[in-house]
Order: sequence, then C-alpha cells, then structure tokens
Amino acid sequence: MEQPIAVTRQSFDDWMVPVYAPADFILVRGEGSQVWDQQGKSYIDFAGGIAVNALGHAHPVVTAALVEQAGKLWHLGNGYTNEPVLRLAKQLIDATFADKVFFCNSGAEANEAALKLARKRALDQGNSSKNQIVAFNNAFHGRTLFTVSAGGQPKYSKDFAPLPGGITHTPFNDLAAAAEVINDHTCAVIVEPIQGEGGVLPADPAFLQGLRELCDRHDAVLIFDEVQTGMGRTGELYAYTQYGVVPDVLTTAKALGCGFPIGAMLTTDELAKTLGVGTHGTTYGGNPLATAVAGAVFSIINTPEVLEGVKQRHQWFLDGLNKINQQYPIFSEIRGGGLLIGCQLTQDYAGKAKQITQLANEEGVIALIAGPDVVRFTPSLIIPEQDVKEGLARFARAVARICS
Ligand SMILES: *Cc1c(COP(=O)(O)O)cnc(C)c1O
Repeated sequence: MEQPIAVTRQSFDDWMVPVYAPADFILVRGEGSQVWDQQGKSYIDFAGGIAVNALGHAHPVVTAALVEQAGKLWHLGNGYTNEPVLRLAKQLIDATFADKVFFCNSGAEANEAALKLARKRALDQGNSSKNQIVAFNNAFHGRTLFTVSAGGQPKYSKDFAPLPGGITHTPFNDLAAAAEVINDHTCAVIVEPIQGEGGVLPADPAFLQGLRELCDRHDAVLIFDEVQTGMGRTGELYAYTQYGVVPDVLTTAKALGCGFPIGAMLTTDELAKTLGVGTHGTTYGGNPLATAVAGAVFSIINTPEVLEGVKQRHQWFLDGLNKINQQYPIFSEIRGGGLLIGCQLTQDYAGKAKQITQLANEEGVIALIAGPDVVRFTPSLIIPEQDVKEGLARFARAVARICS
C-alpha cells in the first residue's frame, strides 16, 4: 500500500484557498461529544460542527444507516426516484405543516429554492412587479449570491456586486420598520426564528406573529430559515411550533444529515405547484445515500426523549455558564433556546470571542463564536452530562486565563 500523504496544519496554508482560518490543530477522530487531534489530545465538542452534529460523532445507528445504504445505492440522478428519499419526505411531512419537500445539499441551496419559488409564484399569478424580498439586518442565509444578498451582513456580499436586486433589509425584531416596507410588491419575507450567525438573537413572538399577518395581508410568502434552529436544536423539532407561527416555506439543513450534506425546503401543496417539472433542480439533491442517513437521524431526533433532553441540557449549560459568570463576570447576557446558546461579552471583553475560543481549544474544549462579541455553544443534542460538566470546567479555565 502506498503511504498516505503527510499532512499538517501548514498544509492548509500551502494548498487551500484561504477562505477559512482553521484552528492550529487537526482533528482525526470523534466519538459522541469528544474528538481527538493528530497528537491524541482530547477535546469536548461544544460546537458540533456548527450546529450540524446533533447526534455527536460516529453515532452507531446513523453510521449503520450510512454503511447499509453505501452497500446498496449511492446516487441515481433525479431521472429516477428512490426509497430513502420518499421515506424521508414522509417523515418530514408527517411531523410538520408541510405537504411537499424539495431536497438539496445545503442550507444556502434550500434558501435559494425558497426565494426562487416566491419570485416565480408571483410571476405565475401574472404579477410581474411583485418581486420584492424583505429580509433583516444581521441575518444569515448562506453564501450563494442570492442568499448572501438576502443575508443582512453587507461584509459578506459587498465584494461581489452587482448583487441580485429587489431585496430590502430592515432591523430584526422591529415590526413597525417591517410594516413600512412590506406591501403588495413583496413576494417574500425571509427570517430566522433565532438569528444564529448574527449573534444568537431570538425573534420576539410578536415580531414573527406580525410578519405572518403582514404576509397574509399582502399575499407574500413567509419563509422561515430554520437551517440552524431546526432538527431539535431548540427542543422542538422546528422552532416555529414554539412560536405558534406557521410559515409558508421552511428551510432546513445543518443537523438534518448530522454531517452528511443535505438540505430541504418544506412547503404547502399550493406553493409547491410553482416549481413544476424542469423549473429548478440539483444533481445530488435527494440522493439515496444522504436521505438514508437523514432518515435515521430524523427517527432518533424526532422523539420525546431527545427533544425533552435538549431542554434539560439547556439548563445544565445555563447553570454552568451562570456559575462561571459569577466568578468571572465576562457575559452581559446568556440567551438563545435549547442547545443554541449565545453568551454576549461585556464591553470590557468586546471583540474577544475568537480569543476566548482559542484559549478554550488549548484547555481542550471546542466552542464557537457568533460575531466578534458572542461565544456560541451548539453541542450534540444528546451530549452526556459528564461531558457538559467536563467541557464547562475546561471552558472555565479558558475564561480564567482571559480574565487574568
Ligand atoms: C448555516 C446557515 C445557512 C447556510 O447553510 P449552508 O449549509 O452553509 O449553505 C443558512 N441559514 C442559516 C440560518 C444558517 O445557520
């Protein structure tokens, strides 16, 4: 056998397009909520691959589903349907408001499909001037040109102009501002129930309720981007049920495949008709390998044990983080829902979120940031109590260092 190519962190700088600045170690193995690097050092994983690995690493049931399907059928192309994709569609439909599902490979693609659907729906109704999209400051919807333009962080889009037009941004949680711009020319409103990348900012229930009413009044499609909040992350399968506000289109990805790339757009029978044969598509979307994995993931997550367990784990994190904050007051607010938790740094520590996660790495725990001033935790939904305790103890040591 040929020797594998020797790789180090330096190889990244040598060979990779530098869009990322990864940590200075390379992880090679994971089990549950622990991962190990090339040197065998262990880390507790409080990031879960950015809210993706909702069942931790190497979950035996998910791995078995992958291996079983890998021995049968990987891919056909959309000229042929397959059993796993149909079963997954039924699981999603039975558990949500949706009647129809479109599968793709990422969150951005799911949102791209949603926005295209909204534009085409208005056009099909003979209303060619009903093409305006309303989105919110600080939102994140993905990195394709359309979705990065819908996102409300100009730093991610400004270098790629000319951008797709017809998108207006207003302040998140400001219903009056949204009401100013939503009118009969609006074809869609896209919103995250909790802004994830933007800083773990939950929507006010009245805000989402108000958007629902404005969309009804002006016949606009209400799109909930649940790419990060979905699949049990907040303690419900999807966050819209907690808010009691039902969207017309819901997008999901991240934890849907627990690490196997897959995304989906869920919608109603009426709206689904817009995307007739040949109007949209993707080569890999809904392939049997991805959907077999997601089907296994779904069966585990959509159970009272796992969803109730998220609420319990939320409390473990809150108790632990509050204790750390009593000893070293660096957080001005701890917010979010379920296992999407954001810790806002005080003025004294503004801009230091990245540095804190780097120290956390040194202490053997992996955490995320959500902007420069927020430390974010999105661990496995089934992380054991012992790992939460140990990870928070390690995190406390990192906090102690930044405070000294
Ligand atoms: C991560 C994320 C996306 C983009 O998903 P990709 O799979 O990276 O394309 C879109 N919306 C939200 C809310 C996200 O958190």
